[in-house]
Parts: sequence; C-alpha cells; structure tokens
Amino acid sequence: MTASRPTTIADELRGAGLRVTAARVALLETVRTGDHLDVESIASGVRERVGHVSVQAVYDALHALTTAGLVRRIEPADSPARFEGRVGDNHHHVVCRSCGVVADVDCAVGEAPCLTASDDNGFSIDEAEVVYWGLCPSCATAGSS
Ligand SMILES: [Zn+2]
Ligand SMILES: [Zn+2]
Repeated sequence: MTASRPTTIADELRGAGLRVTAARVALLETVRTGDHLDVESIASGVRERVGHVSVQAVYDALHALTTAGLVRRIEPADSPARFEGRVGDNHHHVVCRSCGVVADVDCAVGEAPCLTASDDNGFSIDEAEVVYWGLCPSCATAGSS
C-alpha cells in the first residue's frame, strides 16, 4: 500500500485524489505533528501556519482527509472527536477518564485487524476498534496524593 512513498504532503493529497489547498496541507501537518488533537487545537495549528481559516473550513478539510484515509478520527465515548495522522495500522487507544488524554496502544498481534470476532454474523469485517479506559500516570498520581 505504501510501495512508493510520496515525498510531500501535496503529493499525498494529490495521490488521494484531493485538491491541494494551503489549508489542507497545514491541517495534515498539524495533525501529524500533534498527538490526537481535537478540532479546536487543529484549527489553531492551521491558523498558525496559514492565517485565518474558518472552523467550518477546518471541519470540511478534516472530513475530506478522513474520508481519503490520510487522517484517522477517533471518538471516545463522551469525548470530543480527536484526529491523528497515524493511519492504516488499526492501532488502539487508551483514554484517561479524568483529563481525557489519549495514547496509542499497538495491536496485540501487529496486523490489522488484530481482533477476530468470535462470530462475524456473516459480515465481512475489516476493522476493529478498542478503547481502553483508565487514569493516566499524572492523574493517578494526583488522585493518590
Ligand atoms: Zn489524566
Ligand atoms: Zn492513535
């Protein structure tokens, strides 16, 4: 799937069949350098790079990039959606119940999908999503002091 690695973000956008815009390039950079950012953080990252961009434009660009598979959207229950640039490996996430910080958890087996349903009900399953919940180290420390 990544036999010939594109050299620039613009190439990647074109390769995914997307029109290249400054906002999309800035958005992909922001998501990739960030760590499971929410929409507000992404919007401010995009604005730092290319000046004012409306929130609606950020949502539109996120939608296009997510649909194209360049960005992955994760949506833990009762949390705002987060976006990340690590795609295609079906990794999982651990979420802190207290502060909402998100960290990556690699697949147990390393191949996507690493979870095989015990009964697939006749579905053709191509993805599994697991969210682990708990307390991050700093919240666990704060809670015990
Ligand atoms: Zn926490
Ligand atoms: Zn992740």
